Order: sequence, then C-alpha cells, then structure tokens
Amino acid sequence: KKYTIVDKETCIACGACGATAPSIFDYDDEGLAFVILDNNKGTAIVPDEYEDDLQDAFDGCPTESIKIAEESFEGKIIKA
Ligand code: SF4
Repeated sequence: KKYTIVDKETCIACGACGATAPSIFDYDDEGLAFVILDNNKGTAIVPDEYEDDLQDAFDGCPTESIKIAEESFEGKIIKA
C-alpha cells in the first residue's frame, strides 16, 4: 500500500512525472505537479495498477520532489 505527494516547493515543473504516470500526476496553472488522486494531500492509496508508474516517476523526478510512503501523508510533505 503506497501513498504519494509532491513537494511543490522543490518541483521545477519539468513535466516528467505526468508523462510517466498520467493517472497519478497532473500540473497546476504554474506547471507544478500535484497528485490527482487526493489533490496532493497524500491521503489516497495509490491503486496497485499504478504502482509501477509511480515508482518510475519517483525515479525520474530530477528534484526528488515526489515522496512515497506506506502511510498517509495526511497533507504534510515531511515524512520518511
Ligand atoms: Fe516536478 Fe518532479 Fe514532476 Fe518534474 S518530475 S514536474 S520536478 S514533481
């Protein structure tokens, strides 16, 4: 079970994650990524079928702005 959230403070709007995992990530008006599933609160379990895409997006983010955890982020970016 995985949760994900984007740190929009460090995202550089490169566009990689939405291309890699379009079911999980989209971009706001400034091009910064957010998690579609829960409006970037990190509270929605990522569906199993998207987990590979999530891992690829995580690996491909140049700024390590994509966070993944096994517990809900509860709206907060900082969690191991
Ligand atoms: Fe932002 Fe990383 Fe997604 Fe690029 S891959 S848009 S830096 S979260």
